[in-house]
This record gives sequence, structure tokens and C-alpha cells, in this order.
Amino acid sequence: MHTFVGLTLGYRDSQYRKLETTDRYSRAVKNAGGVPLLLPPLLKQNDICSLLSHLDGILLTGGVDIDPRYFSRPVKQKNGRIDPLRDKMEIILVRQALEKNIPILAICRGIQVLNSACGGTLYQDLPPFSYQHLQKAPKWYPVHKINIKPGSVLHKLYSTRQIGVNSFHHQSVKDPGENIKILARAEDGVIEALKIKNHPFALGVQWHPEEMLNKYSLQKKLFQYFLGKANKYAGR
Ligand code: MN
Repeated sequence: MHTFVGLTLGYRDSQYRKLETTDRYSRAVKNAGGVPLLLPPLLKQNDICSLLSHLDGILLTGGVDIDPRYFSRPVKQKNGRIDPLRDKMEIILVRQALEKNIPILAICRGIQVLNSACGGTLYQDLPPFSYQHLQKAPKWYPVHKINIKPGSVLHKLYSTRQIGVNSFHHQSVKDPGENIKILARAEDGVIEALKIKNHPFALGVQWHPEEMLNKYSLQKKLFQYFLGKANKYAGR
């Protein structure tokens, strides 16, 4: 039987005409044994509810900044472009998927959506002490290191406590939401990975493993693990 993974999409502009994602997410899912399905932001609560009975996993992809209204803050100067339809759809999707114990892998913007959906807050722009998290190096290049929590699922997965990662964000998780456990931080303290407690697999990473895995095969492990969990998901 096939394993179906829903990938979220965003709008390329504020005119709501063109949808956008890179094919790296689909490739990573496909190469790990899954069938990627692209989910447009216009889906409503009812659509999402029925859709979830056909999916084995959710991949929240990278994208523009989430509206700070989702963590009860005004939009500050340095917050970037907002995609209101996508925000609304993804928050509903995450909350329902968490309720149904559907495996979730959340990448970049995804980790921020996951945290916001659980009542956490974000830095709308990284604090001044931070390293360069919006890298100018090529996409696959590990611009900073992360320190992984000993004994955590990531520690077991990578068999090491420190790996190099790429970085394409100017925002990050500030206060973790309910039931969230921090799994890794950059050397400047910025939160780079987290998971939801008491859930089979809901894990967020701030970096982009899908852009690194051609050069660093270690980065495939997260997708393989995610697909393993999606395979075992019996709710469909
Ligand atoms: Mn980073």
C-alpha cells in the first residue's frame, strides 16, 4: 500500500494567483518511499477534516512569515510578507493532525507554525546577538552548527550530538508552546528543533534538510524516519 504525505503550499505573491514550492520536498518524500500530494492554502476546515482520512503524514514546508496574530502579538516592523490563507489553513491542519496523531514533519516556517499552533511565540526578527541565520552561502552549505539534546530522538537518529545545518530564516521560536520539547539549538542559543510530547511523531526543524541531502546523506535520515512513522500510521 502507498504512503500518502500531504505537502503544504504557499502563494508566491499577494494576488493569490500562483502557488509555490520547490520540488525538493516532493523528491525527499518520494525517495524515502512516500507519495507526495500538494495541498493548496484555500482548503477549509471541512475539506481538511475529510482530507486527513486519506493521508498518512503531513509535511509543513518553508515559506513566508506567519501572522503574529496567531501568537497574539501585533505585526512589527521587521516581520516579512504574510500569507493569510496559508496561515489559516496550516493552523487548522496542524491542530487536526495533532488530534488524530498523524505524523508531522515541519520544516523552517513549519516549525514556527507548529509552535504557534500549540500556543508558542516567535521572534519576528532574530535577536541582535544571533549568528547569520539567513545565509548567503549556497543552499546545501552548513553555515552553522546545532547542539542536539542528549538522548533525544535526533541524537539517536544521527548518532552524534552536533551537526552542521543550512539556515534560511530571520525568525525563530521564542517561547515554546504547550507540550513542546526543545531538541536542538544553534550555538547562539536559537531554537533549531523541537517535538510535541505524547505524539507518535510531530517534529520541527528550523533548517532545510531537503536542500542538503544530495551532499550530506545524513540529512536523508529525517525523511526516512518520518516515512517509517507514516507507514505505521494506522488511522487512514
Ligand atoms: Mn539557523
